[in-house]
Amino acid sequence: MSAIRSVCVYCGSSPGAKASYLEQATKLGTRLGQKRFDLVYGGGTKGLMGAVSSAAAAYGSKVTGIIPKFLMSKEAVEADLHAVEDLIIVETMHQRKHLLFEKSDAFIALPGGIGTLEEVVEIMTWAQLGRHTKPIIFCGIDGFWEPMRFLFEHMKAEAFIHSQTLLKPTFANTVEEAISILTARPATSDGNPAVIERL
Ligand code: AMP
Repeated sequence: MSAIRSVCVYCGSSPGAKASYLEQATKLGTRLGQKRFDLVYGGGTKGLMGAVSSAAAAYGSKVTGIIPKFLMSKEAVEADLHAVEDLIIVETMHQRKHLLFEKSDAFIALPGGIGTLEEVVEIMTWAQLGRHTKPIIFCGIDGFWEPMRFLFEHMKAEAFIHSQTLLKPTFANTVEEAISILTARPATSDGNPAVIERL
């Protein structure tokens, strides 16, 4: 049996409109480091991505960043990459997403934009298809993911959520709640945390 060791954080490459987004991204990185989780993320140094990774590294996480070559100049400032212990440069977005998935035992989505949404939704579709049972946590800051929670409920009410093995995403209202979900998550005999539930 193994517990969660490495956590993939999906989040905006922008800082967002409210100061609380950067503050709480820094807090999440700090708490991951303090709890000795490794961080796996998209390798950017800007916005919430930069805040999570630099705080996690400062507090003891091993940080793995996975970034496509063509995004290096756009999302990663060379001088700020010191927080990334293991920088993996790939060719395509698909390779990035696949490695983020493979190297992680759990996923947390912080506030973000289209990129964040795309990444976390794809991870959910893989769970729905029974490809993995790793936990997926929407970490809301100031209610950021409430529209997503509402959308799931709507899909469920309208009978469009059909899979018996759909992984039920977890909604955490705070960083501390997200951390306690990670630390409390039981492990199954195959080493994957048991999270498949019916909606
Ligand atoms: P955003 O939430 O739009 O700021 O994007 C967050 C991260 O997702 C950034 O590192 C983007 O490069 C990345 N991203 C955007 N689109 C995709 C995609 N199709 N596949 C993988 N990552 C993406």
